[in-house]
Amino acid sequence: MAKVIAIANQKGGVGKTTTAVNVAASMAATKRKVLLIDLDPQGNATMGSGIDKYEVESTCYELLIEEKPIQEVVITETTGKYHLIAGNSDNTAADIKLMEVFAREIRLRKALEPVRDYYDYIFIDCPPSLSQLTVNAMAAADSVLVPMQCEYYALEGITALMDTINKLASVVNPNLKIEGVLRTMYDPRNRLANDVSEQLKRHFGEQVYRTVIPRNVRLAEAPSFGVPAMYYDKSSTGAKAYLALAGEILRRRTKNLQKAS
Ligand code: ADP
Ligand code: MG
Repeated sequence: MAKVIAIANQKGGVGKTTTAVNVAASMAATKRKVLLIDLDPQGNATMGSGIDKYEVESTCYELLIEEKPIQEVVITETTGKYHLIAGNSDNTAADIKLMEVFAREIRLRKALEPVRDYYDYIFIDCPPSLSQLTVNAMAAADSVLVPMQCEYYALEGITALMDTINKLASVVNPNLKIEGVLRTMYDPRNRLANDVSEQLKRHFGEQVYRTVIPRNVRLAEAPSFGVPAMYYDKSSTGAKAYLALAGEILRRRTKNLQKAS
């Protein structure tokens, strides 16, 4: 049964899309079956997977509004070896139309039902806003992975985000968990980053991933070649960090399953 992880933070530019693409590719490289859903109208995860967002036949719009079967919407050939549901500016139209439809919060959840047994992991790249699309992601997900940059206002932002997640969860998805807090674009020479990182660990404890994503130019360059970093420069610190993160996510899941049984 697939574990569905929404990658969310209402702030833009914190590394959501970079995390989505690279963790999906890293997980796929461990022979897991992976689906990535690009909910962001910017379509950056789509482009970063080697798919031209201007040329795609179907996107989240067809899935959520036209209710096309997911098997007809999914793109099976990406440079990251995972499957993709593409996103582009049509996602904005979907967001608006969702306002008018029945049971609008659970459209994505319903749409995923036929494939939940097929995939091992489904990652959702969320837009940087609390739109209907993000609500749909929260309703469909088992857990939320929160990427954050260790900078001055980060903690304020994350407290607001956790509030939102908790409120949303109480309405649309009482079982929603925090998958983990991921430190991104980390520069260990920066004292402020270290301070914020320590505060984060105090506040969120075990929920903070041990894996830290360093600031690494290869992670920023790879999307312009339409590939995840591991297929651009597999020895880069960025590519290695995301492989480590995939390993940590897998180990946490096994640990939680053992706890539950
Ligand atoms: P979001 O999806 O949260 O808006 P992105 O993943 O698009 O954030 O990242 C914002 C910008 O920062 C992009 O240009 C991306 O290439 C760059 N970036 C993200 N993570 C890193 C990193 N670890 N090191 C260097 N650049 C990064
Ligand atoms: Mg993004």
